[in-house]
Amino acid sequence: MKINKNIKYYLLGSGAIEKLEERLKERGDGYSIYFIDHYFKDKSLINNLPINENDEIIFVDTTDEPTTEGIDILKESIVKKGKDKPKAIVGIGGGSTLDTAKAVANLLTNPGKAEDYQGWDLVKNPAIYKIGIPTISGTGAEASRTCVMTNVKTGLKLGMNSNYTIYDELILDPDLTKTVPNEQYFYTAMDTYIHSFESLKGRHRHLISDAFSREAINLIREIFLDSDNMKSDENREKLMVASYLGGSAIANSFVGVVHPFSAGLSVVFKIHHCEANCITMRAMEEFYPKEFEEFFKMAERNNIKIPKLRDYIKDLDEETLKKLYNSTVIHEKPLSNALGEKFKEILTFEKVSEIFKRMM
Ligand code: NAD
Ligand code: ZN
Repeated sequence: MKINKNIKYYLLGSGAIEKLEERLKERGDGYSIYFIDHYFKDKSLINNLPINENDEIIFVDTTDEPTTEGIDILKESIVKKGKDKPKAIVGIGGGSTLDTAKAVANLLTNPGKAEDYQGWDLVKNPAIYKIGIPTISGTGAEASRTCVMTNVKTGLKLGMNSNYTIYDELILDPDLTKTVPNEQYFYTAMDTYIHSFESLKGRHRHLISDAFSREAINLIREIFLDSDNMKSDENREKLMVASYLGGSAIANSFVGVVHPFSAGLSVVFKIHHCEANCITMRAMEEFYPKEFEEFFKMAERNNIKIPKLRDYIKDLDEETLKKLYNSTVIHEKPLSNALGEKFKEILTFEKVSEIFKRMM
């Protein structure tokens, strides 16, 4: 049994971001470092932030998802400027930006490189104090105890799982997600739906995680099945809550079959996590028949096109399939959670290949 941590403080509601100034003042004197999704570079949001002369602003290029090398470069640039002791780090963006801020906050108080901390409970010193402000909902990165990064050299996609990685405070302001394009809004939202059902259908049980996951799914159904506008003010706020609950559930739960296959697509083809999940859902009917049906119903109802693997690659040759197989079955924890210890007897190379071909 391990001790659990959740977010200490959070604010929820339209206009909540205006409280950032007050929250930072409470941290006392000193400067802050902002990590902001590059989408906002020329947007009015920037002018409304309480930025002071000595603060640092780093726009995070989210064209590709975070890499360990990218995190090291950011850390080095901050150290070189002598800005390595901020009173707070503020992350404003989606999963990629929120995770970047988390990873750098850990590295500023712990020696070495990002790759040294890929794993469980390897971070030894408390991180810089950090405030998370999501601008797109679904991954749960704002609430989880990890920050996902890919080590391009080794192909390992794993975060720094640690209680120190968790944000100290969250500002959940649904006004910030108004501008998310519809497809992206849906793909990212589905991350919370998918990891919640994977967890509930798995062998491992934790009653608090189960409760978080069940409510996250209820909210997703209200937003995408019971309403005519998935992006109404009310629904964007509900989705922020669903994402937060889903992220809080992750600490004590395991995902299932979808995430390992999705990770295979991300590692081999660099497909973004949430889009890769949706592509994977095309081949998940045999494992999750009800959820498969519900997922495509939600997509259809909201006029969302679910991509195919063919949109990325013309055909799957033997060599590519081997890479996909290796980067899928490496995820032993979720796969045994879903299929039992002997999951490799079910997920043979032939079976895994057939599943990936179904996504074409
Ligand atoms: P993202 O951060 O990658 O952003 C996706 C796109 O949306 C980007 O182009 C970004 O510029 C744009 N965007 C963000 N906010 C916007 C806004 N308000 N208006 C318009 N455009 C906006 O998206 P994501 O899906 O939230 O995050 C994916 C990342 O999260 C992956 O790297 C994945 O590995 C990670 N992840 C982390 C956890 C965790 O627990 N830490 C869990 C799941 C996924
Ligand atoms: Zn996910």
